[in-house]
Amino acid sequence: MAAAITARAHGLSVLVLDEQPSAGGQIFRNIESLEATRNSEFSKLGQEYEFGSSLVRRFKKCGADYFTDRSVWQIDNNLQIHHVSASASKSNSVISHCQAKRLLIAVGAMERPMPLPGWTIPGVMPCTAVDVLYKSSGLIPDGEVVLAGSGPLLLLIGCRLLDVGVHVSAFLDTSMNGALLKALPLLPNALRSHKYLTRGLSLLWKIRKAGIPFYSGIQNIEALGASKLEKVRIGKSGKFFDVTADLLLLHNGVVPNVQITRNLGCEHRWYDVQRYWEPIVDDWGNTSVDHVSIAGDCGRVAGAAISEVSGHLAALETVYQLGVISKVERDNLSQPHRIELARQKHVRPFLDKLFQPSKTWLVPENDKTLACRCEEVKVSEIRETVRMGIKDPDSLKSMTRCGMGYCQARMCGLTVSEIIAEEKKVSPEEIGYFRVRSPIRPITLGQLAEID
Ligand SMILES: Cc1cc2nc3c(=O)[nH]c(=O)nc-3n(C[C@H](O)[C@H](O)[C@H](O)COP(=O)(O)OP(=O)(O)OC[C@H]3O[C@@H](n4cnc5c(N)ncnc54)[C@H](O)[C@@H]3O)c2cc1C
Repeated sequence: MAAAITARAHGLSVLVLDEQPSAGGQIFRNIESLEATRNSEFSKLGQEYEFGSSLVRRFKKCGADYFTDRSVWQIDNNLQIHHVSASASKSNSVISHCQAKRLLIAVGAMERPMPLPGWTIPGVMPCTAVDVLYKSSGLIPDGEVVLAGSGPLLLLIGCRLLDVGVHVSAFLDTSMNGALLKALPLLPNALRSHKYLTRGLSLLWKIRKAGIPFYSGIQNIEALGASKLEKVRIGKSGKFFDVTADLLLLHNGVVPNVQITRNLGCEHRWYDVQRYWEPIVDDWGNTSVDHVSIAGDCGRVAGAAISEVSGHLAALETVYQLGVISKVERDNLSQPHRIELARQKHVRPFLDKLFQPSKTWLVPENDKTLACRCEEVKVSEIRETVRMGIKDPDSLKSMTRCGMGYCQARMCGLTVSEIIAEEKKVSPEEIGYFRVRSPIRPITLGQLAEID
């Protein structure tokens, strides 16, 4: 949205393709409709949500062509972009393509999957799913809800659930042991963005004050139930106990959505602190592929404010690259954004270290856990195949179909690299990632046949 506003302000012709049915991205999902028709719920979502109204309004007025409900499923090297209706229910959804001179990828982040025994039974969901359901349809879970994981988003969503009267019966904190101690040297710099820290502490305080049983130092979590979730088995210091639950919400941080940048062949690097791959970009968001740049959380997860700034900067670079402004003009116009970026950035190294994912939740200890949900490949099969001598995720894919299903490895990609790396006693950086092929979003044979 920010990039479109800046690019349009300089007269560029801009097309925005978005999978969602309305503007707002993840954080400001469905904001226009909520503000207009569900005002009491709108105000419950707090200041950081309300802030999105003016951004969405400016975006809608900026003159960019905005196509909603469009999933980009392939981008060719000549920047021909193929898209299709995102709603599976539309049987005759027309497949389309367009030609770009420059491409800005701003596909955001996704929750890091948290594979554990029972994570595929009904009643177990990634925690942001409740946020999506609430913002898009006003749905609130009933019954007993258990929250498990680590990260600011889990605290935020936990508090939102309390605000709308949901009964949270346990909070299972899976943060890495000693994380606070490791993050402490980074605290003085983080204090320069003290608003984030105060906000984080107030969320934590709200959860503790609500009297929710809070368990830290958790080593095992198992979701149990015959046809749906009935209870959560928790392991701590060698002892196990059960908590009754109708819904288990999992969260192990957020990682960049790299399907498109991988598919395009952009260079990526391993970010060890948060254990994910990120595309390599320069200060203006340019990737290693000509005419392709990046803005927002799909570069490095940094939150909504930094994402917005990076959108303005990437757009200024695009305007410069297309010959509309000079380098000096680009640099001058970028000054306020650079100042804002510096202001927002202080807290990130501290947060990344504090919420560094623990190995316990990256590599499932229980061999029976499903790693690849689409093709139902268990952790044990991956380990056995590695012991047979495969070297990387692609050869694992040929042997087991792991990563070959509907989600094209979005769900299992990081887990697979972590398991192979652990077996081979090296870093995932050495193991690499699946080669991501199109279609990066599922399309039907009928839709493919419609291509001109
Ligand atoms: C599920 C979820 C919920 C979150 N909720 C909050 C929150 O409540 N508060 C908070 O502070 N932070 C939240 N975050 C983090 C926050 O969303 C991000 O920091 C911020 O939205 C990043 O902005 P962005 O523009 O980079 O990406 P996003 O806001 O994620 O926007 C990316 C857009 O790209 C679209 N897209 C993705 N793939 C394709 C494709 N193939 N074709 C077409 N369009 C595509 C998506 O539909 C989306 O509209 C959330 C993150 C996630 C993953």
